[in-house]
Amino acid sequence: MNNKSWVGGANSPDTEFPIQNLPYGVFSQAGAEARCGVAIGDFVADLAVLERAGLIEISGFAAPVLNPFMARGSVAWAAMRARLTALFAEGGDAALRDDSELRAAVLISRAEVQMHMPFAVAGYTDFYAGRHHAENVGTMFRGAENALPPNWLSIPIGYNGRASTVVVSGTPIRRPLGQIKPPEAELPMFSPTKRLDIELEFGAVLGQGSEMGVPLTVAEADELIFGYVLLNDWSARDIQAWEYQPLGPFQAKVFASSISPWVVTKAALEPFRVSAPKRARPLLPYLREPGPMLYDIQLEVRMRAAGQGHDTVISRTNTRELYYSAAQQLTHHAIGGCKMSVGDLLGSGTISGPEKASRGSLLELTWGGKEPLMLDGGVERRFIEDGDTLTLSGFAQGEGYRIGFGECVGTILPAPALRPEWAE
Ligand code: CA
Repeated sequence: MNNKSWVGGANSPDTEFPIQNLPYGVFSQAGAEARCGVAIGDFVADLAVLERAGLIEISGFAAPVLNPFMARGSVAWAAMRARLTALFAEGGDAALRDDSELRAAVLISRAEVQMHMPFAVAGYTDFYAGRHHAENVGTMFRGAENALPPNWLSIPIGYNGRASTVVVSGTPIRRPLGQIKPPEAELPMFSPTKRLDIELEFGAVLGQGSEMGVPLTVAEADELIFGYVLLNDWSARDIQAWEYQPLGPFQAKVFASSISPWVVTKAALEPFRVSAPKRARPLLPYLREPGPMLYDIQLEVRMRAAGQGHDTVISRTNTRELYYSAAQQLTHHAIGGCKMSVGDLLGSGTISGPEKASRGSLLELTWGGKEPLMLDGGVERRFIEDGDTLTLSGFAQGEGYRIGFGECVGTILPAPALRPEWAE
């Protein structure tokens, strides 16, 4: 099959959505119901229209979530990918290409659509699988001698986050209120967070579930993954520092996590698999990877201060900096008998590289606020202020094409007003 497409914009070397990508999302136009689509070139292909026209055999795309399609499993995923490739390829099936009326109904300019949450999040688990991040944060919170907890090199550590507050890119993020305890204070105070931060993460989306009480191998876990999104796990560092021991983050992370709007399939990322870094300590056999389980995906974080007209790149890193893959995280998640569900989202944990400019959070980039960032135009930032906008982006670079995710954007709104009855 030809790797070129007749769809406008799909053959541009810097498009995020060439025919090799075909990521799934949920979109709407003004006045119309949300439904499933695939990004290609400058367009969204409306899968509900393709389904009604009888050009695809798999059904369920009129739904406002991808869960019904994901639940059909890997045979359906592969069949759908093959069919879409045939419909969009130069020299492929002419049924759509040569029908101008249908083409106009199916292909909608991406500039005209609003994106929605692509799937109903069944559960959200956040891991801590980036070693540079764990060492940086551990050094700041507990000192260099205790930077990595004793279990870190053996276990992909995680905690159960909140599925209810996972939102799609573009959703404004409200600064949270909570308990904070400045280092010099004896007791905590109630306040809007003063240390609002991002976490640059890679999110795995499960398209299949597992049975309660039934463990998974790493290879089996990988089979359950439908695709990946970029994930910004917004964090309130002052709330986190006070609350996180012994059970991990609670209020510091529950207020919002943003995801990019397109779920990039595991199939599209297959050519970009890379091996995990050298193991500092042998893993127990149940966690050993049967082959390359990480991906080579270049990541970027941009920041725009309130009132500024343009972004400044504040970090560049790569998903290959992770120590544990999503399949390993999932294996560990299920090994004790936890049931996994269609629509579960697994966050990788912050992806930082070894260099300062490759750190995936402001906490690390400014070393706890001690070394402020200078944005273009001379604006200084330690943490995020109201009105600031943060954008994550990323792509895997192939030969002459790239597999992108679409941006993951969020702008910060002021905290809720403090109520008189909360005054001390
Ligand atoms: Ca996180």
